Amino acid sequence: MEWVGETNVLYRREDLVAYECDGFTLKKGEARAVVFPADTREVAAVVRLLHRENVPFIARGAGTGLSGGATPLGGEVIISLVKMKKLLRVDLDNRIAVVQPGFVNLKLTQSIADRGYYYAPDPSSQYACTIGGNVAENAGGAHCLKYGVTTNHILGAEVVLPDGEVIRIGDEGIPDMPGYDLLGLLTGSEGTLGIVTEITVRILKAPQGKQTLLAYFDDVEEASRAVSDIISAGILPAALEMMDRTAIEAVESANFPVGHPLDIEALLLVEVDGIEAGLKSQVEDITELCRRRNVREVKTARDEKEAAAWWANRKTGFGAMGAISPDYLVQDGVIPRSTLPEVLGKIREISRDTGLRIANIFHAGDGNLHPLILFDERKPGEKERALEAGSRCLKVCAEVGGTITGEHGVGIEKREEMRFVFTKEEIAAQIRLRDVFNPGNLLNPGKGFPQPGRCAEVKQEIKERRMAEG
Ligand SMILES: Cc1cc2nc3c(=O)[nH]c(=O)nc-3n(C[C@H](O)[C@H](O)[C@H](O)COP(=O)(O)OP(=O)(O)OC[C@H]3O[C@@H](n4cnc5c(N)ncnc54)[C@H](O)[C@@H]3O)c2cc1C
Repeated sequence: MEWVGETNVLYRREDLVAYECDGFTLKKGEARAVVFPADTREVAAVVRLLHRENVPFIARGAGTGLSGGATPLGGEVIISLVKMKKLLRVDLDNRIAVVQPGFVNLKLTQSIADRGYYYAPDPSSQYACTIGGNVAENAGGAHCLKYGVTTNHILGAEVVLPDGEVIRIGDEGIPDMPGYDLLGLLTGSEGTLGIVTEITVRILKAPQGKQTLLAYFDDVEEASRAVSDIISAGILPAALEMMDRTAIEAVESANFPVGHPLDIEALLLVEVDGIEAGLKSQVEDITELCRRRNVREVKTARDEKEAAAWWANRKTGFGAMGAISPDYLVQDGVIPRSTLPEVLGKIREISRDTGLRIANIFHAGDGNLHPLILFDERKPGEKERALEAGSRCLKVCAEVGGTITGEHGVGIEKREEMRFVFTKEEIAAQIRLRDVFNPGNLLNPGKGFPQPGRCAEVKQEIKERRMAEG
């Protein structure tokens, strides 16, 4: 407490309840305490103390993560970065901004929009999630199809290592700096290599114009094929999102309905942006490609207000599941775009087998699926079946050449599913890399990899095989 002040520490049981999990609510654990440092110096002091006392700890942003990354397994100290929420610098000449880790994603665009700039990575949780959390998860979003995910927009970071040492990594945009790409390694490392205390990001000039389209389909396969057609025609929309019938039912029953027909099987929400003069032809081309796939209707937003309403309807889609189901589990697999019809068919089979409805809302343009498994935790066995359905969806993604997470991370949720995409040797190599930065595994222990017993098993198997090979 001497480092951050008594009012910046929570340790009573009733105060810790709010920190039992993140947005993945199916697994919970109790933290030992939560501390709220005000700056890098305080973060480093707290980390040094915890390191010396051999107490495990976890960095936490807004807690919107969907794989349990910020969830304690039991007895960790949570280092909450929410009080470190300043926009430190905006440098329009060099198109960079410097933020503290607790700065909320959307606030960055809001802070520079009047000068014609924006920050591209736009997770649907951007009104709440922090840029520190985005770096840890390498967050994506609807507009990452054209502009890339968080790692493409991070230029530098200040990091407190698990022993309390403070380092700066990155190069503020200097091409090809010598040395290892530590920034690339840190981004997406799910809070297991260090605590990010300052971030330099790239900001972009807002496009001159944009147009938003909605395409309504009577057949989900035709909608999926239209997605591939658009990309293979060489059009690169800023965003290309899809929702299926169950998802449409949910968003139309929730807080931001926009009048989507309830008898269609799928819709595409497409945004094109760039120089005004080029937009009309892109809209025409996309409309024509959808027509060839027997679209029922294509319409273009009349104005920015209508486009914003369509986006609010889409971006609140996960939460909208609450309107049609008491509980839901969101999954996050990636597939090659061309396998979309096949994979959606297999997800329907999983839904039939497990007797659970599965809605799909996803970043179709980059093949990042989000099956939302609907269940009722009060009914015995439904939670377990939901978890099983989620794991089976990820297996399907891996089998068609995709992977088990596009943006939500592995956390505690997908530790075992790492085996769908990596061999034992590959997992062991990653654990060795983590151990270089986090040798005692005090920082965010138990995340990202198969459980400790199993990791030891993996290491042992490799050791035995090497010995057998002489
Ligand atoms: C409704 C909803 C929609 C979502 N949509 C998207 C989406 O479109 N795209 C997407 O990518 N994600 C999405 N997410 C998931 C989530 O918002 C992102 O993963 C986000 O990046 C998490 O940020 P956070 O501040 O909430 O981090 P937290 O949940 O607090 O933490 C996430 C992980 O980051 C680590 N961490 C946090 N801060 C730091 C730090 N400063 N230094 C080191 N490690 C740190 C934590 O230890 C944890 O492992 C969505 C979530 C919800 C609830």
